[in-house]
Amino acid sequence: MCCADMRYQVTRRCAQHDDPFECPDRVIVHSVEFGVWGLVIHDGGRAVVEISFCPWCGAKLG
Ligand SMILES: [Zn+2]
Ligand SMILES: [Zn+2]
Repeated sequence: MCCADMRYQVTRRCAQHDDPFECPDRVIVHSVEFGVWGLVIHDGGRAVVEISFCPWCGAKLG
């Protein structure tokens, strides 16, 4: 991972929320299947803004 913030997001497993969209602590989702990184929009739905760079350190996401 590019930085500690991203590592926290990717490795975090919340005890209360299986679904990252329901967890207010999760702001990043990563689809290994599609190779896509997304910023979770916590509006009660499943909206994601696709991102190509780390919002914390600016590293390109692979
Ligand atoms: Zn980073
Ligand atoms: Zn949670």
